Amino acid sequence: MKILFASSEAAPLIKTGGLADVAGSLPVAMRHIGHDCRLVLPGYPDVMHKAKGLSQVAELKQPSEQKPIKILEGFCEPHDVPLYVVDAPYWFDRPGNPYLSPDGDDWVDNAERFACFCRAIAAIALNQAKLDWQPDIVHTNDWQTGLVAPLLQAAKKRPATLFTIHNLAYQGLFDHDTFVRLNLPSHLWSYEALEFHHQLSYIKGGIALSDRVNTVSPTYAEEIKTAEFGYGLEGLLQHRGSHFSGILNGIDYHVWDPMNDPNIPASFSADDMAGKRLNKLALQKEFGLPEDEHIQLFGYIGRLVDQKGVDLILQVLPGLMDAGVQVVMLGSGNRELEHALEKINMKYHSRVGVKIGYDEGLSHRIEAGCDCFLMPSRFEPCGLNQMYSLRYGTVPVVRRTGGLADTVIDVNPTTMAQGTATGFVFDEADASSLWQALEHAIQFYRRSGTDWEILARTGMEQDLSWEASAQHYVELYQLALDDPGI
Ligand code: ADP
Repeated sequence: MKILFASSEAAPLIKTGGLADVAGSLPVAMRHIGHDCRLVLPGYPDVMHKAKGLSQVAELKQPSEQKPIKILEGFCEPHDVPLYVVDAPYWFDRPGNPYLSPDGDDWVDNAERFACFCRAIAAIALNQAKLDWQPDIVHTNDWQTGLVAPLLQAAKKRPATLFTIHNLAYQGLFDHDTFVRLNLPSHLWSYEALEFHHQLSYIKGGIALSDRVNTVSPTYAEEIKTAEFGYGLEGLLQHRGSHFSGILNGIDYHVWDPMNDPNIPASFSADDMAGKRLNKLALQKEFGLPEDEHIQLFGYIGRLVDQKGVDLILQVLPGLMDAGVQVVMLGSGNRELEHALEKINMKYHSRVGVKIGYDEGLSHRIEAGCDCFLMPSRFEPCGLNQMYSLRYGTVPVVRRTGGLADTVIDVNPTTMAQGTATGFVFDEADASSLWQALEHAIQFYRRSGTDWEILARTGMEQDLSWEASAQHYVELYQLALDDPGI
């Protein structure tokens, strides 16, 4: 199959979150199993600088653009995935991240920026760019690519479309004036297409008008069909019926491999965990904490947003301090949460280490060096860090929601006897439930080093690779080709 994988970010070229990890590794897995999967990205500065061998292959005139935009072709290293770049400097050649200006606010013209991206994807999909290649499937991801299926819908010979929801909380909502300004076909302003409570909704376009829709874990697929998680889109998701499903993400075993990770000081594996101790000591040193392998070390990595339950961690922190454990945290995002973390760092500087910012190497060292990983998310479409934790023998403490529920098996007498337990799971998104799980984790750690090692090793032995998930995507592509849902 020829697959065009469209994403607003892809590791290692440009990353703000889990979508980039998926876009960086699923196309590789697809190519591995014999499909011609190619990536298309906006031409942000990082992409232009880091992509290999970029050269212009097409020029496109778009209705709302003054100048033609260019399509460049090259490769995304290290696996040499073929890459198309939408080179529209006016929209993409900026500092800051793909969605936010350097002062942390949404770019005011995000609707225009990603409409330009979507139009270019649609042009490639319909061979209007006259590349030597036309996809059978266009796989779009999240709201930034939500206009692609609506733009393709009416075309006679169009590829099949799949839209993947990585996070329903981000929807690309704009006003009606924006819809008019974008010069989109007027029939798309309808309840069946882009209109959502008198607003323009990019994500609704992807959900309503793609042949197939999926999200990144089976549990999240069920959750977002309810009012609690559905943001008003639950009815539409229910309406898509069997055309909407959940496929768990995999993780990139080349990038996240404790036996072969250039970011960590010592290698280790499920068969030989000795190196993990050295990583722990090195991590304590890096954060200026007392270096002691017997002090239980908890870690957190992630965006500092309400979703991730960082406020719950802050609430249980005094209890953790009384229990004598150490905590290291890496993240950036919400200014108030950043300040709150800096404050607790000052207050408990001998037991807590905080780094505000984005640091890929440090995220690997935290996964490698901690005993436990904190992930008390209020909702979590899939979550990658708990899977990285499992792979690095770092026992996750997670809330039973979305992909966390699908990937971590709670410690209890039955799962311990069966040898299936991999972490500590709690139900309610409140500090007392999190604290109960943490108390359990602390007692368990103190009670028996051997049992702890069994727990960590069981996590390390889970198959979290892309192989199985990539196969599920192939099945979904085939369904979309054989039986278009639109
Ligand atoms: P989300 O996509 O909601 O941000 P995921 O757990 O699916 O959450 O993926 C987050 C990805 O981003 C992981 O690879 C994680 O390690 C990485 N990440 C998030 N924040 C940081 C940070 N401050 N520094 C380094 N990596 C980070």
